[in-house]
Amino acid sequence: MKEKCTIIGKTCPICNDVTSGIHYGIHTCESCKSFFKRAISFKKSPKFKCASSQGTCALSPATRSACQLCRFEKCIQAGMLPSLVRQRGERGGRAKLYLKC
Ligand SMILES: [Zn+2]
Ligand SMILES: [Zn+2]
Repeated sequence: MKEKCTIIGKTCPICNDVTSGIHYGIHTCESCKSFFKRAISFKKSPKFKCASSQGTCALSPATRSACQLCRFEKCIQAGMLPSLVRQRGERGGRAKLYLKC
């Protein structure tokens, strides 16, 4: 409800691609949306490995698939909600309650 409004509809906070709407709580691109969904669904073994083993990989549309660990961490940090994935999607547009300007 504050200054976050300025980034809405522009770039994905995870990889800087163009956003496609609100997914699991925040605006992200299609790619990060499916990545996050997949990452959460694989709850059996979420053992991602950092490509640089530093946990600080730069993420861009070109490099976002290189490091799943950093990407996933960034999804969480950006505010994506695993609980919304487990509820099986965004039924009725409930997630749109977030960051509505
Ligand atoms: Zn993205
Ligand atoms: Zn990494």
